[in-house]
Amino acid sequence: MHADPSQAEPTAAQALHTRLLTLDSHIDIPWPNGPDPFTATQRHVDIGKMVRGGLRAGCFAAYVGQGPRTPDGWTKARERALAMLEEIRAMGAERNGLRAVLATSVADIRQAATEPGVAIIVPAVENGHTIGEDISVLDQFRALGACYLTLTHNGHNALADSSNPRKDLGDEAILHGGLSALGREAVAALNRLGMLIDVSHSSKATMMQAAHLSTTPIVATHSCIHALCPVPRNLDDEQLDVLREIGGLVQITAVPSFVRPQGKVDAVGVADYMDHLDYAVRRCGVEHVGISSDFDGGGMLADWRDASQSANLTAELVRRGYDESEIAALWGGNFLRLLERAEAAAA
Ligand SMILES: [Zn+2]
Repeated sequence: MHADPSQAEPTAAQALHTRLLTLDSHIDIPWPNGPDPFTATQRHVDIGKMVRGGLRAGCFAAYVGQGPRTPDGWTKARERALAMLEEIRAMGAERNGLRAVLATSVADIRQAATEPGVAIIVPAVENGHTIGEDISVLDQFRALGACYLTLTHNGHNALADSSNPRKDLGDEAILHGGLSALGREAVAALNRLGMLIDVSHSSKATMMQAAHLSTTPIVATHSCIHALCPVPRNLDDEQLDVLREIGGLVQITAVPSFVRPQGKVDAVGVADYMDHLDYAVRRCGVEHVGISSDFDGGGMLADWRDASQSANLTAELVRRGYDESEIAALWGGNFLRLLERAEAAAA
């Protein structure tokens, strides 16, 4: 399909890309002591790369790996998540000729997007282990601007079962059979706070239960398609069907081994990634699919190595026949619609 490349095509795609409110729904930060994102760094996402790549907004996750489900383990996890949220909030700053804005609501995001060349920082928390058994920690997360909570990471926590049990932590295949009673309380609290419920990393039972329990649609902020790459943490057809039914969303992600079995960075590219996106669109409809990188957390493709190359995705979407309104929906519009619904339903 590249035999006769037209000069006009990349230019038109680039122009379209520049018009979009692009949002990447899952980015990690180096921790601790990551390099200043307002300098040129080895990070896949820093402010300069966002601006150069036309990536307007990113959800930055305060990520905490699973640890022991003990009072001490929970305290450490909570303290780390709160410290990481402070670091993410501090990314809303201006220096070295670069400007980034902290945005903790859809209105904030849309307002910030009216300013050209500004990077938009949206906080989130990855792993419900960070609240231990204390639902009130969710209020602290929301007060610090977190817009979603990823229910689990690898390993079961007090809220829910993970798609990847941690044998090294003593996990059996199933702990709660999906959400625990506390996990159900957490879902209700997230609804009350206007936060999205993220089911990436969750077991299928957890995901299905959360989909039906939540009063607003849930999201998988960084997941791929099981039918194309059968790893436990990718979503199968039944899960995609449920996302469609409840108005939810899958944000396809750029981790090579989730895109292709045993995939390595240099052998997996944006075209392979878009096969997952196309599959999800065919199964669920374009309004239930979106884009994420998992940059700085394992995401990287041969031709989407960092945020500065984000226009390559728009070019591939144009090549595949998506029109501007569909591309805008995939590149953040759908995610903002869901977040807006969560905010509107908050008590
Ligand atoms: Zn993750």
